[in-house]
Amino acid sequence: MMLIREPAEMRQYLQEKLAAGIATGFVPTMGALHPGHLKLVSRARKENELVLCSIFVNPTQFNNRQDYNHYPVTLEKDIYLLLSAGCDVLFLPTVEGMYPSGLAPIKHYPLGYLEEVLEGKYRPGHFQGVCQVVNRLLEIIRPKQLYLGQKDLQQCLVITKLIQLESFETTVVICTTQRETDGLAMSSRNMRLSAEERLKAPLLYQALLKVTRALSHGRAQSAIEAAIVFLQEQDFKVDYISLARMDTLEPVFDWDGSTPVAILAAAFLNNTRLIDNIIIREEDFSGEALPRTVSYPE
Ligand code: AMP
Repeated sequence: MMLIREPAEMRQYLQEKLAAGIATGFVPTMGALHPGHLKLVSRARKENELVLCSIFVNPTQFNNRQDYNHYPVTLEKDIYLLLSAGCDVLFLPTVEGMYPSGLAPIKHYPLGYLEEVLEGKYRPGHFQGVCQVVNRLLEIIRPKQLYLGQKDLQQCLVITKLIQLESFETTVVICTTQRETDGLAMSSRNMRLSAEERLKAPLLYQALLKVTRALSHGRAQSAIEAAIVFLQEQDFKVDYISLARMDTLEPVFDWDGSTPVAILAAAFLNNTRLIDNIIIREEDFSGEALPRTVSYPE
């Protein structure tokens, strides 16, 4: 596995390969890798000649300085895991390399409603920061396929929109969420949970499952209210649980049984914020719902 730190070196390395039409798969991460990240890398390995991964804890997408300062870093282990998963090139840029003219945004990405709801509402500015870093990464790497995790569903939609806005020739591939055996969605932030919090954390997924079951009986909204109370009783501070359209994230109050929808949730356990979601009728979620996006069974 090659390790490249300088954006210019990465461009130079890729120039011939891209000109020759080699299929490149790219997995952007913030490190502290776990099997969820590796699932993306393995998928990229199966579908591309060249697999690139980046580790960059992007300061501009954190709206909480404490969260940024305490973001876990496990670089040696990450390198070992990426090697084992078959990554060809690890891009490890510095903050200065990524943002030579400083952290202030150069442009505003018109994301519209997508950045006003759910994560956008509770983490103002977060998705502009995500677009800033992903735009820069895509400019440098210009991958044929970009591998993202369904765990961050709203981020998948935002990045798909960014790709359209900036006319990148990149296809988004969304990989399903990798879970612990008790259902907890894997996340780098899980390592911050105390033993007691770790025991409670899977209840977020349990709450989503309860809403999913109620949905088939047309009782989603009352199930959402009950799920919020259930989590609050277990010491969660719930930001939201929402039934929303898959393509726009607009809330759905009366599901017609066929529109692709998802149930999304975010909640704190003390200082650790957990997010998760379930896509309903996943088989309906195709390239049609999200242009230039493919999602198919692994
Ligand atoms: P992060 O390092 O948290 O920025 O995540 C990098 C990529 O890995 C994003 O596309 C995430 O959605 C994806 N990812 C994180 N956790 C999981 C998981 N449990 N299952 C699948 N993908 C994940």
